[in-house]
Amino acid sequence: MDRIMTNRLDRAYSMYHAEFENAALRVLRSGWYIMGRELEKFEKDFAAFCGASYCTGTGNGLDALYLACRALDIKEGDEVIVQGNTFIASVMGISMTGATPVFVEPDEYYQIDADRIEEKITEKTKAVMVVHLYGQTAEMDKICAICEKHGLKLIEDCAQSHGAAYKGKMSGTFGSAGCFSFYPSKNLGAFGDGGAVITNDKETDRRIRMLRNYGSEKRYYNDEVGINSRLDEIQAALLGVRLSHIRALTAERKSKAERYLKEIDNPAIILPKLRKGSEHVYHQFVIRCKSRDKLAEYLKEKGIDTIVHYPVPPHLSKAYAYLGIKKGSLPVTEEYADTVLSIPMYNGLTDEEQDYVIGALNSYAEG
Ligand SMILES: *Cc1c(COP(=O)(O)O)cnc(C)c1O
Repeated sequence: MDRIMTNRLDRAYSMYHAEFENAALRVLRSGWYIMGRELEKFEKDFAAFCGASYCTGTGNGLDALYLACRALDIKEGDEVIVQGNTFIASVMGISMTGATPVFVEPDEYYQIDADRIEEKITEKTKAVMVVHLYGQTAEMDKICAICEKHGLKLIEDCAQSHGAAYKGKMSGTFGSAGCFSFYPSKNLGAFGDGGAVITNDKETDRRIRMLRNYGSEKRYYNDEVGINSRLDEIQAALLGVRLSHIRALTAERKSKAERYLKEIDNPAIILPKLRKGSEHVYHQFVIRCKSRDKLAEYLKEKGIDTIVHYPVPPHLSKAYAYLGIKKGSLPVTEEYADTVLSIPMYNGLTDEEQDYVIGALNSYAEG
């Protein structure tokens, strides 16, 4: 068998290759490549899929987060609460506005621990950013109640949670803005960079639309200092194809996850826990192991690649050394960084490949 990689983007492409190729050709031949009909259609369709009133495409997920923060008037002097164990982009979306990220420990589902948010609220706290990490939602009823009680804005980083729901409600629709990435490896992936912000608030959507296009609503008239962050026509058209198959793609991930959950049986390995009422879309299948590095090495020797999401928590990265947060101050976050391991999980992973991964994991002996 060939090496089993952590991800194979060519597999989902080949499932629908004729549709993707037709969409790309349609745009190439149209003579219109930025801010046109393809984008308008995708924004409408993606908003409908999420059950949101508005959607604005952006150049990538980081910009989606930054633009949402800007549209909600988050700025220097403000604090934004975010979980400690996230991809660095969540934190950069906050700090690019000049605001200060404040970290909260995760719960046993790898999501922000709702019971530890209030202790971090100060007079400067302006918002809570929830990251639905790995494809499972956070405990949204508690978090929404906290935000309401303290008058805080709620931003959702949905870069890993396309289609994930909590008690039947889609991720991204709980607060002021839901921010998505369409980076190729995401559950709804483009063939290049892409992102979007969804919201139910007309004014928030207007500000995001303006800010993504140089702060301009009318061409060459600029009301604010914005950025250039647009989802181009080719990506919008290709995303439209993927979106039309997203339910089948998610169902396929779920059935692979169910196999892992049922068949991985090794006391050295901790499997992901499922929150009641939360619908997991398995952007990643993340296990934990005390001897994580040894397990990764063992799998590599057997021809199985794995990856760590993420080895350096943002508060310990060089980029955020200026916050002065010491090692040991977020023990749960730091323990996860030392023990998590993402195993192969993607559309088109074959049964034989999965058999092999499961067999290798079950024959791993710690010590
Ligand atoms: C991928 C990702 C982002 C950023 O998306 P880009 O499109 O790469 O900028 C933000 N947050 C999380 C949790 C992500 O996984």
